[in-house]
Amino acid sequence: MSSAWSPFTALLVCVNLPVIQSESASSSAPARDDRTHLLDLSLAEFQTWLTEHGQPKFRAKQVFGWIYEKRVRDFDAMSDLPKTLREQLAKEFVIYRSQEAAVQTSRDGTDKLLVGLADGGEVECVLLRDGHRRSICVSSQVGCAMGCVFCASGLDGVDRNLTRGEIVEQMLRLQARLEPGERLSHIVMMGMGEPLANLDRVLGALETARSAEGLGISPRRITISTVGLPPAIDRLAKNGVPYNLAVSLHAPNEELRSQLVPVNEKIGIDAVLAAADRYFDASGRRLTFEYVLLGGVNDAPEHARELAQLLRHRTVLLNVIPYNPVEGLPYVTPSKRSIAEFRQILESGGVNVMFRQRKGDEIDAACGQLRRNRNAK
Ligand code: SAH
Repeated sequence: MSSAWSPFTALLVCVNLPVIQSESASSSAPARDDRTHLLDLSLAEFQTWLTEHGQPKFRAKQVFGWIYEKRVRDFDAMSDLPKTLREQLAKEFVIYRSQEAAVQTSRDGTDKLLVGLADGGEVECVLLRDGHRRSICVSSQVGCAMGCVFCASGLDGVDRNLTRGEIVEQMLRLQARLEPGERLSHIVMMGMGEPLANLDRVLGALETARSAEGLGISPRRITISTVGLPPAIDRLAKNGVPYNLAVSLHAPNEELRSQLVPVNEKIGIDAVLAAADRYFDASGRRLTFEYVLLGGVNDAPEHARELAQLLRHRTVLLNVIPYNPVEGLPYVTPSKRSIAEFRQILESGGVNVMFRQRKGDEIDAACGQLRRNRNAK
C-alpha cells in the first residue's frame, strides 16, 4: 500500500473516536450580531471594502496575516494596525461567529469538534494527526439531503447550506488546535453535507484555504467528496483548480445503488461514472471511489466482481470503508472473512484498492452522531 496521502485518511471523521476527553461549552445563546463575517470575504473583496473606506489596500494582507497565519481572534490583537482602524473593523466585522459546542479528543491524535452556529445549527469537523500530516475534515451543510441510508448526517434531512465563512471558520478552529509551529496540510470535504450541493460557497472557502494569504494549502492536498451530482461535477471541472474528487459509489449496480443512495434513482450510475471520467480528463487527478461495506448488503463476492468490472479500466483508487455503526440503523459491519474475500476479488480483478480498518470497539459513533447524540439528550 502506498504511503502517499490519500483522502481516506480523513474518513476517520466517520470512524468516530474513542473518546478520552469530552468537553461541553456553555449553551447560552449569543446575542444577534449584524456585523459582516470577515471570513466570508476574499482578499480582493476585503481590499475593496478598505479602499471604499479610505484605507490603504495593503491593510487587507496585514489583517489576513493576523487571522490565517498568526491565528488571532480579534482586531485588538493586530498590533501593527492603527487603533482607529482596529476599532472601525471591530464595528463592521466579526471574525469568529460560531462557538465550540463540544470537543472530543482521542488517544490517536484525532480531535472532533461540534460547532454551534450563530442560528443554533450544529456541524461537526475533525482534525487528524498522522505522522507529519495534519488533515482536517470539514462540513459543507447543516444536515444533508442525499439520504444515504447508512449515514447519520442525513437522517433528519438538510437544514441549510453553510456560508463560505462558516466553512472557513471550521478550518481555523481546527488550525487553532495545532501547536504554534504546526501547519494544516490536507483538507477533505467529507464532513456533514453534500459539498456539490453548496458548490459556490465550498469553492469560495477552498479559495481561502489554498490562497497564499489564507491557509496556503495546495489544491492537490484538498479533496471534495460527493455522492455524484453530474452537473456540479462538470462545474467543478470547469472551475479549473485541480482538487481531488472522491465519488461515493457504495454499490456496483443501479438497483443496489438506488437502494443505498436514494438520489441515484434520478441520476443513474452510468451518468455518475461518466461525469467522474470527464473530471479525470479535465483535471488529470486520479479519481477516488468510496465504498462503505455493509454486512450482508453490498459485500457479496458478486458485488466485488461487478465492482471490478466497473473500475478496472479506469485510473482510480477504490477506498473500501467497513461500515461504522450508527445507532438506530439496521446495518452491520461485515465479518473479517467477507472483508478479506471482497478485497481479494478486487485485487485480483486489477483494481487499485485500499481498505480502511475499523478502529476498534471503543468507537462510539459515526459521522453526524456527535450532533445527534447531544441533541437527543
Ligand atoms: N456527501 C458527500 C460527503 C460526506 S460523507 C459524500 O457522499 O461523499 C463522506 C463519506 O463518509 C461518504 O463516502 C459516506 O458514504 C461515508 N459515510 C457516511 N456514513 C458512514 C458510516 N456510517 N460508516 C462509514 N462511512 C460512512
